[in-house]
Amino acid sequence: MRAANLALVTAAAYARPEPRSRAELADVTSVSRATVGRLVDDLVRAGLLVEGPAAPSQGPGRPSIPLLPTGHRYAALGLQVNVRRLTARVVDLAGTLVSESVIDGDFTDSDPDTVLPQLLSLGREVVRSSADGREVVGAGLALPGLVGADGQLLRAPNLGWQEVDIRAIVDGRLGGLPLVIDNEATFAALTAARHAPGRPAAIGDFVYLSGEVGVGGAIVVDGQVLRGRHGWAGEVGHVPVTADGPRCPCGSTGCLETYVGRSALLARAGLPVDSPPAALAAAMGRGEHRAVTAIEEAARALAVALGGVVNVLDVPTVVLGGHLADLGAALADRVQSGLAERVLASRWVPPVVLVGSSDISPAATGAAYVPWKDCSPIRDRCSPGGARRHTDRREVSGGWR
Ligand SMILES: [Zn+2]
Repeated sequence: MRAANLALVTAAAYARPEPRSRAELADVTSVSRATVGRLVDDLVRAGLLVEGPAAPSQGPGRPSIPLLPTGHRYAALGLQVNVRRLTARVVDLAGTLVSESVIDGDFTDSDPDTVLPQLLSLGREVVRSSADGREVVGAGLALPGLVGADGQLLRAPNLGWQEVDIRAIVDGRLGGLPLVIDNEATFAALTAARHAPGRPAAIGDFVYLSGEVGVGGAIVVDGQVLRGRHGWAGEVGHVPVTADGPRCPCGSTGCLETYVGRSALLARAGLPVDSPPAALAAAMGRGEHRAVTAIEEAARALAVALGGVVNVLDVPTVVLGGHLADLGAALADRVQSGLAERVLASRWVPPVVLVGSSDISPAATGAAYVPWKDCSPIRDRCSPGGARRHTDRREVSGGWR
């Protein structure tokens, strides 16, 4: 009961930047004022809330003391593998990027036994460089593929990885930090759904597309990623656009990824596949025929695939991420009007296409949000014995969002 109340009160205190008082926290959580008072004392002692100057009293009773979320004392490590980059970030509980290290390269058909130790070494380096009175409580690892319930990577077609026991490779290389492993689009979507761990953003229901060499996806409903039976839901990149289209690295044909994946799109535009997306936008701006055609085909493919998703799920907001965000100025309006034609309910609720952040590794940030999900790092540090070291801990669902 105490843990559940602590999760509720902490989430309410962190749910918005404006501070709430003890009385307001009791009101929004329906937890008794006496219990909220005790929990807030624990959170203040643990450095997770700071008492601001008392507001003048409005009538009888004690003056109201605003409780400011700090979040700078605790942080988590986010790690991301994608085909062109390895990223390690430390992000604190307030959502601030504390430190980052990146290795650019080409990890197509790479060896996980070589690549993962490189990334973990990067992770240890950013944790060391962000120490400075700060405690890193856990880590998340984002991978561009299907991740099994036990943290096994089942397949990542663009890396050429199949059935990799990630935990066996990570074991002992993260200094005992508990690790959550998941799909990169799942983690990247969290950065659109939250301003910081536990602090919801303005949109809570959307389809997220993560554009890179491959195209990942995630469906977010009520601020939570819709996982499906095995955690594999949201693979919009492998929704077929044409039955007999180009061969996809996944083994199927005509997948969305074969039209709008970064390399596929650049090749269709007649540009070198390692060009930046800005080169395609510039070629389109010059009116180059192949570039214009590639963008128009990409927008059509996105509208076909996403139209099906929106009709099935009734989630009419789409967020374009990765290189699709870089090309958002060219794509968003075209995709939105394509969706308006294809979504059955668009006359009443027109679909909206939003351009996501220009962050090149959003999944690394989302991966650093996740160690807070079950509130256990907070719970442990607010326990009567005070802070203690974690042992390996698996993620469980809980009240922290
Ligand atoms: Zn595919």
